[in-house]
Amino acid sequence: MEEVFQAEGADYSRRPPRPGIVELHRQIMAEAESLVSPVAVWCEVAVKDFGQEEVILENGQKLTSRLLVRTAGTAEKLILFTVTIGSAMDNRTAEYSKAGEIMEAFISDAVGTAYIAKSAIAALAKLEEKYHRSGLETTFPMGPGHSYWRAMEDMRTIFGILRPEQVGLKLTESNLILPRKSIAMVIGAGSKLPDFKGKSHCDFCDLQNSCKMRTGSGPIC
Ligand code: SF4
Repeated sequence: MEEVFQAEGADYSRRPPRPGIVELHRQIMAEAESLVSPVAVWCEVAVKDFGQEEVILENGQKLTSRLLVRTAGTAEKLILFTVTIGSAMDNRTAEYSKAGEIMEAFISDAVGTAYIAKSAIAALAKLEEKYHRSGLETTFPMGPGHSYWRAMEDMRTIFGILRPEQVGLKLTESNLILPRKSIAMVIGAGSKLPDFKGKSHCDFCDLQNSCKMRTGSGPIC
């Protein structure tokens, strides 16, 4: 529930939430258990080269982020991955909104946000473990749509390689992912990566001082 409160931007450090609010959160979180269906898809692509602003993949396609170049330009490969909790939470939130149950819709949306963040962190931990076991270092995850990686068209490149349509994901015309509670990100893996220990993509994001999802553990958004 703490994580749901965080996704809502609620601060209960001085005064605890009213019992009615806690109970409503409990109900919506219990409902979410049967609606959330986390799935991850990932694949690796060899890095062919890099320039000042782009990393060039083995198939000649480019991903254009200076931060990606700084952290993963020297990587041997990039791991592209996407995680979704499916569309049922989006649908339930929309139902609440349509019925005028605004508080329920707000909480339902935040529960979905907390679930996708947790699912993505779990998927990332498995990927990191796999590459660390094979002796490679990994970078922190980065994704298009942030101030450090503005080229949203790169989402299409990532989707073209990953083909996550197989798990029900698609892109809108403006390259946003549907269902909404989904993420697509990239990490680099290699034996000679620059040292960014203790950093996460939040340290390079313009929203770092106002973002309600930022935590010390380096969130995924
Ligand atoms: S969690 Fe917030 S601060 Fe971190 S990268 Fe995402 S938007 Fe930026």
